[in-house]
Amino acid sequence: MTELRVEIVPCLNDNYAYLLVDDARKECAIVDASEPAPVLDAIARVGLPLVAILSTHHHGDHVGGNEDVLAKHPNAVVYGHVSDQGRIPGLSKPLDDGAKFSLMSFDVTAHHVPGHTSGAVTYVVRGGAAPAWAFTGDTLFLAGCGRLFEGTPAQMHHSLNAVLAKLPPDTKIGCGHEYTASNLKFAAHVEPKNKAIAAKLAAVEAMRAAGEPTIPGTIAGELDTNPFMRVDEPSVRAHVGLDAKAESSAVLRLIREEKNSFK
Ligand SMILES: [Zn+2]
Repeated sequence: MTELRVEIVPCLNDNYAYLLVDDARKECAIVDASEPAPVLDAIARVGLPLVAILSTHHHGDHVGGNEDVLAKHPNAVVYGHVSDQGRIPGLSKPLDDGAKFSLMSFDVTAHHVPGHTSGAVTYVVRGGAAPAWAFTGDTLFLAGCGRLFEGTPAQMHHSLNAVLAKLPPDTKIGCGHEYTASNLKFAAHVEPKNKAIAAKLAAVEAMRAAGEPTIPGTIAGELDTNPFMRVDEPSVRAHVGLDAKAESSAVLRLIREEKNSFK
């Protein structure tokens, strides 16, 4: 099987689109056409036909480039959750939870992960022997999660901890924004004694100082550092004043509320 090649495409202030390249079939695809220019430039640079746009959710900073990219690449199809019909421009391949499809030489599984939005999708893309990539949009960030605009704490808890946390630990995470450093500062506030968080924050600050993206993370790394994936840890529960008997989603709700105003 062909190896999946992923190029990070910085967009807007702190968004990431991703160019997926199949060097054997000589085709490419885009995850989240945030805005036209950098996405079209990335496609032009690789010089391959675009076969698809994978939209993680309907927010404008993730689909704002769909129409202009489709105008230049009219043969591309657009994937998104079935409930986002009418909200994702150009959506032509509506997906249900668990949908599996082939993308170039690669195998894709679409996981419906509501919480940030009602139609959020994470795409797990596997190609060759290397670990798969999970494109999580604004559901899972490195060391954080998206705000609950259209979903409940219970939905986000399920999406993060019953779906994404169960992916193979070496799965690479390509998320929708470069929020890693500020997320880790909050994570260190929640768990000041967590050495994995402290070490990752130092590494991430060095990467940002060098102008490098902090992408990709891994599921294993998130399980060690992401407070929203550590809601059953005694240290995280103690921080929000809950004990072992509390619902996991209640812990997530309190951490999310605190993060909303954390500086
Ligand atoms: Zn969003």
